[in-house]
This record gives sequence, structure tokens and C-alpha cells, in this order.
Amino acid sequence: MTALAVCPTCSGRQMPNHPAGGFAFEHTNECTLRRHEDARAVSDADLARHFVAARRPMTQSERTLAAALNLDVTADTLVIVTWAGVVRRVLDPLPGTTPTPTAPPASPALAAATTQEPR
Ligand SMILES: [Zn+2]
Repeated sequence: MTALAVCPTCSGRQMPNHPAGGFAFEHTNECTLRRHEDARAVSDADLARHFVAARRPMTQSERTLAAALNLDVTADTLVIVTWAGVVRRVLDPLPGTTPTPTAPPASPALAAATTQEPR
């Protein structure tokens, strides 16, 4: 059994099966990362209410927690925010995978079909 990751600020343990995703930690009330995470959660709740899946850049707190989790994130790593009864955050790309395209690849066949005049 591997040891759970802990918050680098308050040593609160990660809650790996939490519905909010992998960044759920048992922070202390005094933890500064908790304050940042709580503020972000309010903003993310607004995003989740207006979009099926909103994509935004990672916060510095998320980067700090990702480092504690040994996640291989880059400057381009995004967070996908969804609603699953709670605000759920998932990294895009998931470490070790390729990014999700922001738009479907152009299809020459579809473009030709939509520019032809009706007969
Ligand atoms: Zn903490």
C-alpha cells in the first residue's frame, strides 16, 4: 500500500476517492492552500453552473498540490471543471496523455459538403 500524499502546507492527507477529484485534501482551517482552494471552488461553482465543462488554467495552489501528488503537469496543463453533485476538477491533459482538442479537426469532406449548392 502506498502512502497518501499530504498537503505541503498543513500535512492534511489527500482524499483520493473524493467526488471532487484528486485535489481534495483534509486541510486544516489555518492552511493557506485551503483558503486559495476554497476561493477557487466558489469561482468554479459559477463556471460549472454555466458550462457543461469549463476549461481554465491551473492555479498556483493546484500546481503546488500537483507537485505533492507527483503529477507531471506543464505550463499548458488546464483544469476541466464539471458539476458532479460537487465541483469536480480534472486535469487536461491527464498526466501522460495528449491534450483534448479544443475544436474538432477540420474535415475537407464536411467542408466540401457544406459549401455545395443544393441541386
Ligand atoms: Zn493544507
